[in-house]
Amino acid sequence: MSIKRLPPELVNQIAAGEVVERPANVVKELVENALDAGARRIDVTSEGGGRDLISVRDDGRGIPPEQLPLALAAHATSKIASLEDLESVGTMGFRGEALASIASVSRLSLRSRVRGAEEAWVIRSEDGGVGEPEPTSGPEGTLLEIRSLFHNTPARRKFLKTDATEHARISELIQTIAMAHPACGFSLRLGTRTVVELPAVDDPRRRVVEVLGRELTDELLTVDFEGGGVTIWGLAGTPSIAGPTSKRQRIFVNGRPIQDRAIQHALREAYRGLVEPGRHPTVVLFLEIDPRLVDVNVHPAKTEIRFRDGGAIHQAVRRSLKATLAEHDLVPSLELGGGDRGSGSPGGRGPVRPFSATAHGATASYESIREGLEMPAHPAPFLGTSAASTTSDHESKTELMPRIGADVRILRVHAKYLFIEDEQGVLVIDQHALHERMMFEQLKARIDSGPLEVQQFLVPDMIEVDAASIEAMETLAPMLDRIGFDAGVIGPRTVAIRGVPSFLLSRNVEPGPFLRDVLAFGAEQGSVDDVEPLLSEVLDMMACKAAVKAGDRLNDHELAELIARREEIERISNCPHGRPTSLRISIAELDRKFGRS
Ligand code: ADP
Ligand code: MG
Repeated sequence: MSIKRLPPELVNQIAAGEVVERPANVVKELVENALDAGARRIDVTSEGGGRDLISVRDDGRGIPPEQLPLALAAHATSKIASLEDLESVGTMGFRGEALASIASVSRLSLRSRVRGAEEAWVIRSEDGGVGEPEPTSGPEGTLLEIRSLFHNTPARRKFLKTDATEHARISELIQTIAMAHPACGFSLRLGTRTVVELPAVDDPRRRVVEVLGRELTDELLTVDFEGGGVTIWGLAGTPSIAGPTSKRQRIFVNGRPIQDRAIQHALREAYRGLVEPGRHPTVVLFLEIDPRLVDVNVHPAKTEIRFRDGGAIHQAVRRSLKATLAEHDLVPSLELGGGDRGSGSPGGRGPVRPFSATAHGATASYESIREGLEMPAHPAPFLGTSAASTTSDHESKTELMPRIGADVRILRVHAKYLFIEDEQGVLVIDQHALHERMMFEQLKARIDSGPLEVQQFLVPDMIEVDAASIEAMETLAPMLDRIGFDAGVIGPRTVAIRGVPSFLLSRNVEPGPFLRDVLAFGAEQGSVDDVEPLLSEVLDMMACKAAVKAGDRLNDHELAELIARREEIERISNCPHGRPTSLRISIAELDRKFGRS
């Protein structure tokens, strides 16, 4: 075949493949156009999953009739004129291809009335043919109606999911965009149902709360951060409202919703230890950064961007969230089961200052925790004074420790839990969880300044492992160095351990089985391009193995240290696996149970 230029219609359809994969992409382009036109109100409708009709109406500045044909032409835009403009683009659109692409795969009608003009004009396009603008009636602003989407690209049409799925994507999209544009009102009607109705608001955080759900108000913490050339603001959910999917995670850069793996990773890092693996924290962050330091033109749908200094962004995001979380006492408070006397305030949550622009919604309680800690039917005497009436079993496991430090009394229960008094009531500590957390934090801090100390063996220790673990040795080698393992493959299934982390030895952890666990874990992960997250996991494993177990007796000295360091560690109040390290029974809650309130 000889080389031929593609007809423009086909060029547009090919472009459409990139810009508009599915109905939600069409909605995105049209809504962004409306925002670029200064709309203060945008109403979106979709029918038949977007296949039958997508309509977007705005009250923006409108398009003059003589420019209507141009709006539908490829590479025609009013937003940039030069390469310099592209460097610092402040509008959502700029590629000038959305309308042309959409028109090439649908039947489109574009009606517009310029603000202050007498008349509205409409232009229609179908199967590549664009008609002439005709006068018509209509309000100021622009209305786009897209019908029979993908009617001429059956392959694309086949890829669409059910109406409900496509509608769910549209709804998700509108909510995301709405978060970034609080001053604009939004509505979304899907079929006959209005599913989004968001009036314009002054306070951007308020819009975010409206979208996430007002009932979460008390669980949303305010993020405000500046550093590393970025300003970051938004809301971060307490660990209790982490969800099974990342749906409630949204990142915006200069108002543009984006997907970015590095930022998602930073987010996970910040919540590491606070939410269980597999749960996703609720986080909505807005990053404001000099537009010249980001390239928004790396993806046709503009959902990905490139940062000039990705590392600095990663760090800024992590720090902004860590700081927010650290400011709040996230110790969950225990509500004692059974009938509630009086309506009292929620249990003491310490100095939590959640964002509260709206009226209080329901306070999230810690269901799982409450269930797990029913009060025993016959509780052991608290201070062991009536020893005669209690079984010797209880007596041996429950004891009052001597005072530690200035004014702390510790009650040790079943060599598992420590009860201490604090200003808000009684703190119940899981000794293993807290100790593990402490070890983890220490290891993490320590490893930043260089590899962990190695204890060399005189005679190497041989372990047999499976083939996948042998393979994992290669990927993991640099990491093993860092955690203080000196080990190498010396046979098809044999690994020689020549040196082990001194830390593990000091905590009586058997290095062989531990290394085997690490390798099995590495094998499960497969090839990884970034070892940092892996390193954290392995430090978790180390901390867990090294920490005192439930049932282990801590000596007074260890106990004193654990309690003394609790404050600094407790800021991050869950063990690395996400179980809580402490719970609080507040005085308020006790008063309520005893009918004192
Ligand atoms: P881009 O947004 O990248 O410029 P589009 O194909 O999306 O390209 O739109 C082409 C042009 O049509 C825009 O630059 C803008 O001038 C005009 N336009 C599109 N939609 C609207 C609207 N809702 N209100 C006002 N002008 C619009
Ligand atoms: Mg556009």
